[in-house]
Amino acid sequence: MTSPTTTPAVTQIPITKPYLGEEEIAAVAEAIRSGWVAQGPMVAKFERLLAERLGVEHVVATSNCTTSLHIAMICAGVGAGDEVIVPSFTFIATANAVLYAGARPVFVDIDPRTYNMDPTKVEAAITPRTKAIVPVDQIGLAAELDPILEIAQRHGLRVIEDAAPALGATYRGRPIGSISPVTCFSFHPRKSITTGEGGAITTNDAEIAARARVLRSHGASVSDLARHNASHVTIEEYDELGYNYRMSDIHAALGTVQLTRLDEILAKRQHMAERYNRLIAQIPGVSTPSAPDYAPHTYQSYCVRLDPEQCAPRDEVMERMLQLGIATRRGVMAIHEEPYYVKRFGTVSLPVTEEATRQTILLPLFYEMTEEQQDRVVEALHTTVRA
Ligand SMILES: *Cc1c(COP(=O)(O)O)cnc(C)c1O
Repeated sequence: MTSPTTTPAVTQIPITKPYLGEEEIAAVAEAIRSGWVAQGPMVAKFERLLAERLGVEHVVATSNCTTSLHIAMICAGVGAGDEVIVPSFTFIATANAVLYAGARPVFVDIDPRTYNMDPTKVEAAITPRTKAIVPVDQIGLAAELDPILEIAQRHGLRVIEDAAPALGATYRGRPIGSISPVTCFSFHPRKSITTGEGGAITTNDAEIAARARVLRSHGASVSDLARHNASHVTIEEYDELGYNYRMSDIHAALGTVQLTRLDEILAKRQHMAERYNRLIAQIPGVSTPSAPDYAPHTYQSYCVRLDPEQCAPRDEVMERMLQLGIATRRGVMAIHEEPYYVKRFGTVSLPVTEEATRQTILLPLFYEMTEEQQDRVVEALHTTVRA
């Protein structure tokens, strides 16, 4: 049998690869041996460790960041007829969560340097129906939170921060997750640390945390763990429509080990990204990510921009890179251009987002990536970008 012709001749460099070791395997095995595999003591432990790490009062772990965002919308009172201000230059889940809550996403454009929501464009998007603003810490760089929080305060709006790709990021020296009234994280393998699938809501508001715990577990007034630990028979009640958005103890066990690696992972990513910055600076027409004065970049993804005047078309570059055994991804999608959103909401014009989504590429970056692999990526980029 001959191998399929689509197999690249050289070893493939993946876009990313989670950093997992024997400790993770042992922790997952331990969770299985304990007999408690659904949401239980390990989830509680993971929440406690994450709260300590971020310096926040409450952490509510969920099945993924999308379900965290949905719960956060409900806790913010977002419902039918409301509008929620979101960037379009983000993963589709940011806006989908608004739709799940029955509200309408109102897209605002981004700052072309940070790729995050442009705070100067937020106020023009506010209407009497606006309920909340969702800043996104895109690809690991904190959004410009202070002006957004200030606008929200002035207009009586809620802020739900989508920090899915930004665990470990900081804004003006403070950890993301401890700043906005509600922040949501993802532990998908594409993010800084992983639980397989997983998410979390962080807040200093005890009422929001309590309601989020109820909503993630069918709306039940008593959790399985509390019932298990109770000395008397406890019958739960269902006061509102809830969901099964729980994280399992198997996932949380993985997360407790991954959390101990967070600093090491972030340091390595930063080192590799800075190395990319230096090497790619030599390639004409390709610009490297910029970081503003208020936040260091944590490089959940390494995003370069191709100047269309000097480079081959972006998709062509991606195809040529793939032929050289190097996986890339388009930068970040523009949600307002996706067919479902066009069908439902018609055309929206966001020039900065539209240009950014067409000109950006994500390059491979992962903990175990070697400098030799990185050199191969840079060389390949150098040869493939030429028009
Ligand atoms: C990854 C991501 C999500 C979705 O996270 P899941 O855990 O996969 O649901 C949402 N928003 C942004 C900005 C993301 O990058």
